[in-house]
Amino acid sequence: MPNASLVIANWKMNGNKALVKEMTAFLRDNKEQFNAVDVVVCPPFTLISDLTRECYYDDIAVGAQNVSEHESGAYTGEVSTSQLKEAGVGCVLIGHSERRQLFAENDEQINRKIKSALSADLQVVLCVGENKSQRDAGETWNVVSQQVKNALQDVATDNAGKIVVAYEPVWAIGTGDTATPEQAQEVHENLRALVVDLFGEIGNKLPLLYGGSVKPDNAKELFSQKDIDGGLIGGASLKTDDFLSICQAAQ
Ligand code: PEP
Repeated sequence: MPNASLVIANWKMNGNKALVKEMTAFLRDNKEQFNAVDVVVCPPFTLISDLTRECYYDDIAVGAQNVSEHESGAYTGEVSTSQLKEAGVGCVLIGHSERRQLFAENDEQINRKIKSALSADLQVVLCVGENKSQRDAGETWNVVSQQVKNALQDVATDNAGKIVVAYEPVWAIGTGDTATPEQAQEVHENLRALVVDLFGEIGNKLPLLYGGSVKPDNAKELFSQKDIDGGLIGGASLKTDDFLSICQAAQ
């Protein structure tokens, strides 16, 4: 039985106003099929206000894909935590592998972004994961645990209730190569122990999401793993039928 409780859509640099309308109407019409699941959609910044408007009467929450570590000032192209909050955003992805790889975000910067987001009372979805050569070299847990420890360094236990960790093996993102449920569960079990170690008892309640080519046909098995509390969904979150099936699979 799936025991998942949270499904987050990461639209990346995709989507438009029409998709916002189509997706929200579709989810709204089928809400009874995933009543027990919290759903968050993270569109590009420009679609946040459209999504907030459309989600006003819905149970769908609005997230962002990135945030600045700075509060305001001369940071061309950046968006701050308070600007996100004002736009109706409740949670933010931090440390996505595409930010790490393509925009050179490092653990120190990710740590600063997390602290800034937490102090603005945003929920943080920390993304971690190893690449193919790290997995092949047997380095998966070393890499993932170090990313988590660095990202959450000096984060107070009081803030643990606002943290979600998404395990996303880089080799599985957008490739169609999903981690097997066993591979994912192995990392999630270690992650559970790590967050309990970092934050104590509340670590047992931290949602741990799996991301990486989750599709309607593999979602249920992944979400049935003991320590997988939901999913972070990229490509499949752009198709209404697929995304609905994944939300249903979490129920
Ligand atoms: C992601 O971008 O976070 C992701 C998991 O993408 P995909 O589902 O397309 O692999």
